[in-house]
Amino acid sequence: NPAATLSLRLIPYSENLWLLVARDVSRLLQLEQMRRDFVANVSHELRTPLTVVHGYLDMLDPSEHPDWAPMLAEMQRQSQRMTQLVEDLLMLSRLESQDSLPGEETVAMSSMLATLKREALALSQNRHEIAMEDLAGVDLWGSNKELHSAFSNLVSNAIRYTPAGGSIRIRFRPEAGGMARGVVLEVIDSGYGIPAAHLPRITERFYRVSTSRSRESGGTGLGLSIVKHVLNLHQARLEIASEVGRGSTFACHFGADRVRSRDQGYFDTLP
Ligand code: ADP
Repeated sequence: NPAATLSLRLIPYSENLWLLVARDVSRLLQLEQMRRDFVANVSHELRTPLTVVHGYLDMLDPSEHPDWAPMLAEMQRQSQRMTQLVEDLLMLSRLESQDSLPGEETVAMSSMLATLKREALALSQNRHEIAMEDLAGVDLWGSNKELHSAFSNLVSNAIRYTPAGGSIRIRFRPEAGGMARGVVLEVIDSGYGIPAAHLPRITERFYRVSTSRSRESGGTGLGLSIVKHVLNLHQARLEIASEVGRGSTFACHFGADRVRSRDQGYFDTLP
């Protein structure tokens, strides 16, 4: 098959012998593409009926039938969840089908951070202490919309998996070896934490540590998958450190080529 895609692996066999194993993965890739198309199509088709259901539910006035109020509220909550799930699936399908970002621009980080803080305050409703540390004069180069959705997922997780009275910190800082090595956006919480055994799989689609807590928290199980894909498209890396009962840190590491300084003079001084 001249159009076959091969996966090659070199395996040490003995001291001076190596095995080259070639596997035809064309069929696997084809199936993976079919899965992606299917998910994208189904999500797209679900969008319109959901908008209609959601719209009509919003029009029903619970004061006309007070005994229906709890049912209406639950139906609204569930249809909101379904809408979020469909939007997340569509976003993930779009991200998976891209090899690179469609358009890149300067992402103004002070307004990004201000938006994240506003979102955190709205979600927390005064139940947490929220702090933010900006890196004055430094912006990122990438996609505003995609980065916002990644950071916003991390912030909403931090709030949802931190009990009342806890703290959330959003921090934009230079990389440990200095800004010439890049910058880091961190979301640090003092919440439940994630057991080490779950960490390797936490960014997989629909993977959750505790189904009941995650479901109660209103999430879709797709947030961290979206974060990982957005960061990959920016050649950035997600690092997770967590301790059960103490909290978690989600750090997004961006290379120096993604950093834009508003004071261009700083870059002229770099080697
Ligand atoms: P979900 O919509 O379920 O929150 P995510 O993909 O965003 O989905 O996260 C996957 C799982 O990782 C969550 O269900 C939760 O168990 C765990 N998790 C994510 N963020 C945190 C956090 N900040 N603290 C503790 N657990 C977290």
